[in-house]
Amino acid sequence: MKPLIKKMMLPKGHPCRPGYDMVPLYLTIHTTGNDKKGANAFMHGRYLQSLDGTRKVSWHYTVDEELIVQHIPDNESAWHAGDGNGPGNRSSIGIEICENRDGDFKKAVSRAITLIRYLQDCYDIPSYNVSPHQRWNGKQCPKKLLPRWKDFIRHTERRASPLAGILGRRVESVHHGHLRFYDKPSWEDKDVAGVIPNGYGFPDILEKVTVGSGHQYKVANSKGDIYYITASPKYVRVI
Ligand SMILES: [Zn+2]
Repeated sequence: MKPLIKKMMLPKGHPCRPGYDMVPLYLTIHTTGNDKKGANAFMHGRYLQSLDGTRKVSWHYTVDEELIVQHIPDNESAWHAGDGNGPGNRSSIGIEICENRDGDFKKAVSRAITLIRYLQDCYDIPSYNVSPHQRWNGKQCPKKLLPRWKDFIRHTERRASPLAGILGRRVESVHHGHLRFYDKPSWEDKDVAGVIPNGYGFPDILEKVTVGSGHQYKVANSKGDIYYITASPKYVRVI
């Protein structure tokens, strides 16, 4: 799901908007290092807008407990990684997490994770390419997250769908007797469509559904007729 993003874009030609095209391969995580009251995402947006280019610094997003603010489009580079024309500056989206002391850092981190996961999905970025700033030039940043980086990065691991590896596979009975299958998601006698012997099954699992306190696979036979059968590994296996 796309999180709400407030745009405070640096205008084209702004001295801190380099304007180089970029295909994002990495996300680079920073913490602002600014614990002043009011140093939230909006203020960082204002700060970037006020720069005259004497200091070449910029990044794409700033996140605080309430807001995600964007400063530079995802498909343009910014100066945040300290690695010159290296992959940090030229191939990564820079995300600053606020640590103002009148804010809630924990909430800001969790909002940042929402943004990170969204951007990972947009650009197909695996969690090993979600990088601490430190990776690019050795700077101790994101200082507040480095001691627990492993724990942080765990939240950016994209979970495989519980149906991955099951959909479209064949399910067959390992039950010694005759195994019932149903016209609809049900365990009731009146909905039984037929029975299959051990070793027989259906070629195509379409879905896994919860029925009462158990699960069933919604399956299709070779003609495309739809049935339901238990998903319990005690009775069936997926091959
Ligand atoms: Zn940094």
